[in-house]
Amino acid sequence: MKYVAVTGGVISGLGKGITASSIARILKARGVTVTPLKIDPYLNVDAGTMNPYQHGEVFVLDDGTEVDLDLGNYERFLGENLAGNHNITTGKVYRSVIDKERHGDYLGNTVQIIPHVTGEVKRMIREVGESSGAEVAIIEVGGTVGDIESMPFLEALREMQQEVGRREDMAFIHTTLVPVLGAVGEAKTKPTQHSVREMRALGIQPDMIIARSEKPISQDIKTKISLFCGVPPEAVVSVPDVACIYDVPLNLEKEGVGDYLVKRLGLTNRPAEWGTWKTFTTRYHEATGEVNLAIVGKYSGLKDSYLSHSEALHHTQGQVGVRVNVHWFDAEPFGTPNASLAPLEKMDGILIPGGYGKRGVEGKIRAIEYAREQKVPLLGICLGFQLAAVEVARHLLDQPDANSTEFDPATKHAVVGLLKEQGAIKDLGGTQHLGAQKVLLTEGSRVATLYGRKEILERHRHRYEIEPGYITPFTEKGYRATGFSPDGRVEALELEGHPYFLGVQYHPEFLSRPEAPHPLFVGLVQAAIQHHNGGEVPSHG
Ligand code: GLN
Repeated sequence: MKYVAVTGGVISGLGKGITASSIARILKARGVTVTPLKIDPYLNVDAGTMNPYQHGEVFVLDDGTEVDLDLGNYERFLGENLAGNHNITTGKVYRSVIDKERHGDYLGNTVQIIPHVTGEVKRMIREVGESSGAEVAIIEVGGTVGDIESMPFLEALREMQQEVGRREDMAFIHTTLVPVLGAVGEAKTKPTQHSVREMRALGIQPDMIIARSEKPISQDIKTKISLFCGVPPEAVVSVPDVACIYDVPLNLEKEGVGDYLVKRLGLTNRPAEWGTWKTFTTRYHEATGEVNLAIVGKYSGLKDSYLSHSEALHHTQGQVGVRVNVHWFDAEPFGTPNASLAPLEKMDGILIPGGYGKRGVEGKIRAIEYAREQKVPLLGICLGFQLAAVEVARHLLDQPDANSTEFDPATKHAVVGLLKEQGAIKDLGGTQHLGAQKVLLTEGSRVATLYGRKEILERHRHRYEIEPGYITPFTEKGYRATGFSPDGRVEALELEGHPYFLGVQYHPEFLSRPEAPHPLFVGLVQAAIQHHNGGEVPSHG
């Protein structure tokens, strides 16, 4: 097993996750098997209880683990499904160390950061790496070098480098910022030099520097970084900002990252095969015309809160060949009395994402009503699905007080209620209905047609569900339940006579990939293209 550690310096938010995912993809393109690990130095055990507004979207894996959104990047770039043990947090490490201490596993020793916490980190990394059977584990360390929180992890990685024995079995890649200052646009290497000095003080010499900058950096600057930071010239890589993140692997490849890493890690060099990846990026850039999709959500101020939704929309661009513009709308103002929905008029399709809590709910319901009445394509996901059902109950079943008990526990018309098996909640971690579950689709329905299958596996994250008593009255209004869990829970609802009015209880956005866009997003965007062209879409059913 070989290890590549990816660290970050100077500032946070350099796109280290995209860089690390791209490096993993470059190795994969050469037929090298890779497995990614993300280290998050926060004390939360997992991301499940974290506010998306502070930390971005909570990503859900097949096994139901709620993880950092970077795991979503790895899944999208590698086209593989990961398990929860690929995300190591300080909380997980300490919990395990403290459990062991209580069991007496440390045989009376004083339990310390070095060697016990670092030992646990190394054990977790090795366990995931070795059990994956991959040749190379890519370990991304969250945060910035110099943060107190990341110290034990960097120390653990330093120890690992000594323990692996052969130099070719472990490499360090350091991502830094090269700012460009002044009118002449002079690229500054000092922050990079300082950051590498800080790494060296911790006993780590980077093998490669990824220099993030607005524009490509010159050969002179690369030479300077090489000299001051002690890395070979071919291992200083310029990664300028890009409009499409899926270009990064190909850009890094052009910079020679693949060739250098193969050499540095002592892997046999195989030609890189970019096949469907290149097909996707080529089609993405060649897309013509445009279509406008709205995401109406609560956290629209921080786009990372809905990262997988917007990525899934972008993935469709490589398939439909039309430029997909994503527009963000804050739901809350739409919910105030007499609020105008005029901003939605230019939109060809609307996506209502998942969410929790009352804020913005009434605005989302109004956007759904608008989409239903104006025949604008709509996809409701999880909370968006539940609210579409509330909207239909209010306006087609004439139940003006219809609601989810999440927002109105006393409502007489509870369209959405707590999942039946949900008991009293004591520990907020992992208490929801989580992870990949089977969904059975009704033959001939829109969803079954889109998937081309009658049985699917989709990821879930919710506490509430559609009340089964609504299935019959909904059906009478042409609003059909067309997806069910094996035990009969409603998983999909679609409206007849509307170009695309579809909601699903699960989260299709987590499974969309650039090389395999999700059928429900493709369906939404195709309906939106028809809407844009003013064309009538043949209605279903
Ligand atoms: N709040 C809703 C529930 O718990 C929806 C959750 C979601 O959208 N992820 O069921």
